[in-house]
Amino acid sequence: MDLELRDKVAVVTGGTSGIGLATARVFLDEGALVAICGRDATRLAAAESALLGNEPHERLLALQCDVLDKQAVERFATAVEQWSGRCDILVNNAGQARLTTFAETTDEAWREELELKFFSQIHPIRAFKPLLDKSTAAAILAVNSLLAYQPEPYMVATSAARAGAQNLLKSLAREFAPRIRVNSVMLGLIVSGQWERRFASRSDPSQTREQWYTEVARSRHIPMERLGNPEEVARAIAFLCSPTVPYITGTQLEISGGVSRHM
Ligand code: NDP
Repeated sequence: MDLELRDKVAVVTGGTSGIGLATARVFLDEGALVAICGRDATRLAAAESALLGNEPHERLLALQCDVLDKQAVERFATAVEQWSGRCDILVNNAGQARLTTFAETTDEAWREELELKFFSQIHPIRAFKPLLDKSTAAAILAVNSLLAYQPEPYMVATSAARAGAQNLLKSLAREFAPRIRVNSVMLGLIVSGQWERRFASRSDPSQTREQWYTEVARSRHIPMERLGNPEEVARAIAFLCSPTVPYITGTQLEISGGVSRHM
């Protein structure tokens, strides 16, 4: 199926690792021009060279940018405009989870979590909206978590913040229609940089990678008996951003190996 992404311009925040990196790769494979950002310069350089492979250099823009820094995000949008003249797709992916119960979450941690989950959407959307408004195939895709609908006791602040962000996205889908589509993916457990860091700090160092991930899948009762791969998410993101599905907006696609319990 041709997703008609050739020569479209796609921006992926947090495109240096895990789901964002896989998404950038899928867009490049589909013939799009891709701009990525991340905070860490070393990770950014590694992602840039991994993504470029045999691609012509002008098809990728990699910039250091913290999505919580409003001015930096505005500079990122200006750089994208100078580089390609436009933006058709914005994937708001940058972020991470906070593993705490309510008792463990300080007021400061609450503010940080709410800021991350809301402003990782708000800053890029504000900065790239003028460019998206000019596109005839504009799409915003938010990478969100199933936690928005199905909170976990050890991720209380992240779950609540995710629910709020999902509500915001629903409002934006209505406000931005018919010019810009707004959709999201609701993730379960996906192997990525976050999970690799948790594996690295496992309590039992004798556990192999495979044993540890199998145990995670078993303890979380994932019907597909494994965690997802970033590429599986990336392909779904490319589909939702494709101009071949122009009537899909305001929706969320679960990618969780069947772990959700709500209807
Ligand atoms: P990774 O840690 O592999 O990737 C996160 C990416 O986001 C990195 O490129 C990181 O680069 C970047 N990033 C983080 N914070 C910022 C920031 N403030 N500004 C710019 N870039 C930032 O994790 P995942 O691939 O798992 O995460 C991608 C998204 O998916 C996140 O929003 C995450 O919360 C969400 N998610 C993931 C799930 C999973 O199971 N993997 C489940 C549910 C949701 P750098 O650190 O250099 O800035």
